[in-house]
Amino acid sequence: MTVGYLLELMAGKVAALKGIAEDASAFAGTELGTLEDNLRKLGFRYDGKEVMYNGVTGQKMPIKIYVGNMYYLKLVRMVKNLLHARASGKIALLTRQPIEGRARGGGLRLGEMEQQALVAHGASLLLKERYDSDKVVVHICERCGNIATDDKIRDRQLCPMCQSNLVEPIEVSYAFKLLLEELQGMHLLTKFELKNKYDQ
Ligand SMILES: [Zn+2]
Repeated sequence: MTVGYLLELMAGKVAALKGIAEDASAFAGTELGTLEDNLRKLGFRYDGKEVMYNGVTGQKMPIKIYVGNMYYLKLVRMVKNLLHARASGKIALLTRQPIEGRARGGGLRLGEMEQQALVAHGASLLLKERYDSDKVVVHICERCGNIATDDKIRDRQLCPMCQSNLVEPIEVSYAFKLLLEELQGMHLLTKFELKNKYDQ
């Protein structure tokens, strides 16, 4: 594309001087040799370079500069339209994760690749902060590994499978809890084997 611009610059110069339309497509339009011949005939240098003078001092520039005319398109992406930041805000009901979309005040998705980049940098605290957005505490039965019910009124946790009250609060993402409940909805039993992360 960039090399195409250089050719377009020369074709544009010929077209403007002759008052005709030129095809500046690379490999398909008017050939460079033809454009050079036309420039020569019009009294210009064949390579499109011109002698230029310093607009402030009037001094002649020691080098010749490639000049021509071409289409110049304005980039429609403006900072104002793309600027996006959020601290806390709306979350999706099902996953409890931040919603998507700048217009709706959503979060910027940190995908799998960005995650790997942060892992490579060793930015573990930032990683934890990012992926804690849907954090939830579930109580796991120490004896049978099932999710215990949390009776918030009586402040009591009880395993519905083995009636044990030996439960541990475990931090998981809500999306993971959702997966477990989807599996249970298909009559699949999910169990946990709890281990202390400080023990070997
Ligand atoms: Zn149990």
